Amino acid sequence: MRLKISLIPASFSIENRDAALGKIADYLETYLQENGIEANIEIKEEVKLPTGLIKKLKHSTVITDDESALEFIEGLQIDGQKFAITQYKMSDEVSPKVIGISSPGRPALLISWESLGKENDLDKICIRAAKEIMHELGHNLGIIEHHTWGYECAMVETEDNLGNFSPENIDKKTYKFCQDCREKLKIPQQ
Ligand SMILES: [Zn+2]
Ligand SMILES: [Zn+2]
Repeated sequence: MRLKISLIPASFSIENRDAALGKIADYLETYLQENGIEANIEIKEEVKLPTGLIKKLKHSTVITDDESALEFIEGLQIDGQKFAITQYKMSDEVSPKVIGISSPGRPALLISWESLGKENDLDKICIRAAKEIMHELGHNLGIIEHHTWGYECAMVETEDNLGNFSPENIDKKTYKFCQDCREKLKIPQQ
């Protein structure tokens, strides 16, 4: 399997954006390779999400409609897989536990930088971003179900079995797909 991937900053203008994008691309390439997936990753110029989809709340700025934001990314005139990252949170009131979104069979995903935690260590956040992208990519390529917390697969939920959710949970997750998911994704067994 060889994927053509565009990493797209979508309303993503944090201070060290270029460094962050470079690191995310590097980690992602490694994670894909270790799963037996070849990829060309290209970092694109920033695009702005439609202002109608962004709302300023007291303590944060959120995307009001995740699904429309994903449709916007999918509609960009870019070939291949469109992996977008935004600095904003996903619709907070509705789904405070959403870090990233994608839909099975669609070549687009969107993850939220703000939802990845507030570490000073840029690498740590970028590793979380790359792991989240691997998870959403699994959905993109057709996996619908999650595994429960603790299972060794990228398709484990970030929420643990007690319903606890935190970005630190991502640190305990793997970026590798299990044999079962590899079969579904039709990537060679390892
Ligand atoms: Zn998921
Ligand atoms: Zn799995």
